[in-house]
Amino acid sequence: MPGPVRVDHGVTSGTFSLDGETFDVDNNIWVIGDDTECVVVDAPHDVADILAVVGDRKVKAIICTHAHDDHVRVAPALREEVVAPIMLHPDDRPLWELTHQHYLWDLDLADGLQIEVAGTPLQVLHTPGHAPGAVCLYAPDLGCVFTGDTLFQGGPGATGRSYSDADLIAASIRAKLFALPDDTVVHTGHGDDTTIGAEKSALA
Ligand SMILES: [Zn+2]
Repeated sequence: MPGPVRVDHGVTSGTFSLDGETFDVDNNIWVIGDDTECVVVDAPHDVADILAVVGDRKVKAIICTHAHDDHVRVAPALREEVVAPIMLHPDDRPLWELTHQHYLWDLDLADGLQIEVAGTPLQVLHTPGHAPGAVCLYAPDLGCVFTGDTLFQGGPGATGRSYSDADLIAASIRAKLFALPDDTVVHTGHGDDTTIGAEKSALA
């Protein structure tokens, strides 16, 4: 028996660079699946750290929430290791090309696309603002959403750098994320979990 579908978590450390500045960052690793197959959300910093969360399961896809380098840097190396397609929203091509000039991703993400892992649907929500191609992944059966850097515990993701837009991220969060049930658990790209309801009242 492949066991129930679950969410596994790790943290890995590295750097984020944009606009000529570099920062130390801790990124969350999220792996969704059962005992036999899974998908990986983002590919930050270190392939070995990601594989430690994957274990011996088959990886169906590497789903990138956006193309900042701290989320995609080891995506091509991970792809080589697990032989799974990298998925990215094409609006993040300019950011992707800042990190990867010699590799492309394999499959385009789009709003409304449904990805299935271990019998569980993941719904792609295009939530531009932090990055033009930023997406969230909603797992209705698991009662959680993976928000990348679009929504954190304490509010929206940063919009101070190139390719970001503060008005757009606010509109994305209100239209796409605040439409989810209040008790939906938010698994973020950095830091602690929150819920849709908690962030809704914080922004009210
Ligand atoms: Zn980011």
